[in-house]
Amino acid sequence: MTMTCYSEDYRTARTRLLSAAQALGGWTHEAIAHPLAGADGGPLYMDVLWRGPQDATRVLTISSGTHGVEGFCGSALQLQLVEDAPALPPDMALMLVHAVNPYGFSHLRRVNEDNVDLNRNFVDFTADTPENDAYAAIDALLNPAELPDGAMAAITAELDRMRATTDYLSMLKAVSGGQYAFPRGVQYGGSAPAWSRRTVEALWARRLADRRVVVQIDLHSGLGASGVGMLMMAADEGEPHKALTAEWFGPMLVTPRPRSRADTILGGYMNQAMETQLAGVRVAPMTLEYGTEPSEVVLAAMIEDNWLVHHGDPAGERGRRIKARLLRAFYPADPSWRAAVLARGREVFAQALSGLGAPDLEERLTP
Ligand SMILES: [Zn+2]
Repeated sequence: MTMTCYSEDYRTARTRLLSAAQALGGWTHEAIAHPLAGADGGPLYMDVLWRGPQDATRVLTISSGTHGVEGFCGSALQLQLVEDAPALPPDMALMLVHAVNPYGFSHLRRVNEDNVDLNRNFVDFTADTPENDAYAAIDALLNPAELPDGAMAAITAELDRMRATTDYLSMLKAVSGGQYAFPRGVQYGGSAPAWSRRTVEALWARRLADRRVVVQIDLHSGLGASGVGMLMMAADEGEPHKALTAEWFGPMLVTPRPRSRADTILGGYMNQAMETQLAGVRVAPMTLEYGTEPSEVVLAAMIEDNWLVHHGDPAGERGRRIKARLLRAFYPADPSWRAAVLARGREVFAQALSGLGAPDLEERLTP
């Protein structure tokens, strides 16, 4: 049963999720149309599925495809959850957000229609956008205008050399921290709130602003050990949701909140914005991140794809090879990887549902 949760294109993934929700019952559905077309010429949507009382005070939200092509993994996890038809504790609802970035999901890009990494787009664009001098220094390396066949090996070697001589956090900020100065570069955060950001923010305001507790799990792939689903969150020592979620899930990767802009390694991500926007709600936002390939393989796939879209021929033979590599860097075909992803997802969702049902939840989450 479980292996059938996986689909090989956005359209199939979406259709199967919505069909399962309709067939099994208990879900309401809202489709929010994206302005552009998918890779197959058909319409694109961010879809919202809701289960449980409309006025529930506690909500578990699970989102997929914030990084478009990572939606294959996230969508399968959401379909499994629908098929599992979970029983919800009283006064609790479940909200699935399918394809936060439907353009990237359909067109096999991690970024959106404007080359924007959505998880760097939730910054205040009315203020100065964050500077990333370390990225500027390596833009030419990560974002070459020419990429002859075989050139990726030299880029990877240069990145390896840098890694050996640069401390981990500086390297992380340079390569993954987000940048706002090179629209055709990698990890570009944009120049204004993207469609996906505006759409999820409106969704939060409409569906979540009046709740008491929201636990959010944003599903990703491409970081960490292969097949391992690692929960991640930002929290300082002493924050109530840090201790509580540790009880629910066991060990997680918890990073301290940045003290200043200069201290910010990965700014502008969606979960952080959710905490800020849902000011009156106790929010525990997490990321469930599944490892796929070694980080240099994943980064190489992103560099090649970025070059292809801006300088290459996506329809050509090499273009198709690059797209296939990108897809598999975030969505391995290995059946044991796929089985491990679903098993871990089932475990995490059950832990979250059970945690959200605890009678003393609100007291525990009160600082
Ligand atoms: Zn991701």
